[in-house]
Amino acid sequence: MYPHLKIDLDKIEDNTRTIVGLCREHGIGVTGVTKCVCGHPEIAKAMLRGGVIAIGDSRLENLHRLQAAGVDTRYELIRLPPLTGAGEVVGAAGMSLNSELAVLEALSRAAVERGTVHEVTLMVDLGDLREGIWPDDLVPFVREALGLEGIRIGGIGANLGCFAGLVPTQENMERLVELAEEVENTLGIELARISGFNSSGLELIASGKSPPRVNHARIGEAILFGRETTHRRPWPGTFQDAFVLTAEILELKKKPSLPMGERAEDAFGKRPVFEDRGEVTRALLNVGREDVDVEGVTSCDDRLTVLGASSGYLALDVTLEEEIAVGEELSFFLSYSALLRAMTSEYVKKDLFRDDALCGDGD
Ligand SMILES: *Cc1c(COP(=O)(O)O)cnc(C)c1O
Repeated sequence: MYPHLKIDLDKIEDNTRTIVGLCREHGIGVTGVTKCVCGHPEIAKAMLRGGVIAIGDSRLENLHRLQAAGVDTRYELIRLPPLTGAGEVVGAAGMSLNSELAVLEALSRAAVERGTVHEVTLMVDLGDLREGIWPDDLVPFVREALGLEGIRIGGIGANLGCFAGLVPTQENMERLVELAEEVENTLGIELARISGFNSSGLELIASGKSPPRVNHARIGEAILFGRETTHRRPWPGTFQDAFVLTAEILELKKKPSLPMGERAEDAFGKRPVFEDRGEVTRALLNVGREDVDVEGVTSCDDRLTVLGASSGYLALDVTLEEEIAVGEELSFFLSYSALLRAMTSEYVKKDLFRDDALCGDGD
């Protein structure tokens, strides 16, 4: 009666083991990233069983959720901390990614107040134009940061692919190592961690061309979906179906495939385009834009086509030889953004499976 997200924890654990194993062969430790699954504790535990060394998330709420559930690991905040929330960041995470001195100063004060040391990875912008210190500014930045009490500079990092789609290459990873060495030689310090990769780095890692000093990756999508993210290619030896969405058929009728009458904007201010397929059997399902990114939903049965959606309905062409009925459930694979929204929607029930048995739900 509700849409369900079926989550196979064994497949996530297995995928983690495969990805972590690949990275380990190349001297790379992996932080498992749970931001796409709202920091779900059971999914984080599956990643930890699979061998990740820490859990990273972009939201403090998600780190709190993991902590409250007693997930025993090191937490890393992989989004830049807010200046106004330094105390909360130091309380929720042992490490955060940073690019602003004012924020480091606030983290320093918060860490000293709590009597702890907060580790930071300083992000460098290698051209993807999301977060990061511009390379020319790195040495003076680190020089300032070194004077801050309660802050340990764990290393430097870069995030490629997410914003401009920049691909990690041997060249830009060598550039990252060069920058680390410039910092080390100029300031007489050692940087333990060079964090170069997310899921877009798998091909470079597997090619053996990543410079040996790049020793850390922050990986979400490759573990959850079993694919690298430069071309969204399935990764050998991993499962692509750890997450499956099911929804129920509420209405099933033969209707024309073209709307009838004068048309204006739809509920979302768009003018949808319809293809004339003649008369089709249309199913209306109990899932919509409020629950998933419908552009990222594909039927597990590749004969069924998504026709469109509103906030509460998904329309499908289910013209088939065999019988299909109101009340039946249909299954869907999800894109990253569709999963993100399904995890965030309270209307989608989460069913977690381990050893083929239902082992809890997230609602
Ligand atoms: C989201 C994110 C990741 C993980 O990216 P995937 O493509 O899911 O592996 C890694 N690092 C940072 C900084 C991120 O924001």
